[in-house]
Amino acid sequence: MEGKIVIVAGPPASGKGTQCEMMVADYGFVHISTGDLLRAKQNYMPELKEFMNNGLLVPDRIVIGLLSQRLQEQDVKKHGAIIDGFPRTLIQAKALAEGGVVVDKFIFIDVPDNVVVERISGRRNDPVTGKVYHIKYRPAPVDVQSRLVVRGDDTEEKVRVRLSNFHSHMKQLLDYYQPAVSRLQCGAAPPKIVYQAVTQVLEDKPIKVHPAHRSNL
Ligand code: AMP
Repeated sequence: MEGKIVIVAGPPASGKGTQCEMMVADYGFVHISTGDLLRAKQNYMPELKEFMNNGLLVPDRIVIGLLSQRLQEQDVKKHGAIIDGFPRTLIQAKALAEGGVVVDKFIFIDVPDNVVVERISGRRNDPVTGKVYHIKYRPAPVDVQSRLVVRGDDTEEKVRVRLSNFHSHMKQLLDYYQPAVSRLQCGAAPPKIVYQAVTQVLEDKPIKVHPAHRSNL
């Protein structure tokens, strides 16, 4: 595989999607989100909804199959990819390695649970463009507001389940990818500040943060 493979990991609502959008624009990566791949399959595989609507992990073999297929495509080979939302378990990480995928960087956007819960409760999705907004921090343009929806798993109860799943697997993943890991302790820092750190990681520079945000990263 010629293009580099970067994994962006973080709890739900850590801002992974926003960081990935900026990385695509600046570095030309292909963005692969397993959450998006799975949502696109829900009509053909209704059993997925059982897991996804309850904040539970979809069985490894299904996600591994979908991602492996996507990684074979030419755009990924040429431009490299940011993988967002995978691996979420050690089994998935090992399957990626067994498929010959070398992970260049593992960027962990580490956001505390209380910030995650606050962000989730205001999150709204645009079913037409797939964009994600927040009622307070990232309001949608007025002309799309009437079509916004709340994702089925974006309730506080379900996000607590997702967070507990997330924490139980992340420690193993950080150990597994250890030499490639950059852990950005972001607090509630705004996306642009987090992105400065992300670009420093991508460009192999030491992470320097403006003093106003230093306690957050
Ligand atoms: P996301 O959009 O990344 O928050 O993912 C939404 C939902 O899709 C998750 O809560 C899981 O149910 C499922 N999902 C996404 N990626 C994976 C994965 N790598 N392994 C298992 N389930 C996943």
